[in-house]
Amino acid sequence: MPTYEYRCHQCDHRFTETLTIDEHEKNPTPPCPKCKSSEVKQVFSAVSVVTSKKS
Ligand SMILES: [Zn+2]
Repeated sequence: MPTYEYRCHQCDHRFTETLTIDEHEKNPTPPCPKCKSSEVKQVFSAVSVVTSKKS
């Protein structure tokens, strides 16, 4: 099951939801678990990000 990442625009809370493709199709943006806002945007986090650390 894929994990979707979301960010709430109301309280800036970031959360993840593990949904089936079907569930995600029906409900692409679940409400924020913290403030119950529906002002939630899905975050498309790059899976294979190469973190080049430069100090
Ligand atoms: Zn929120």
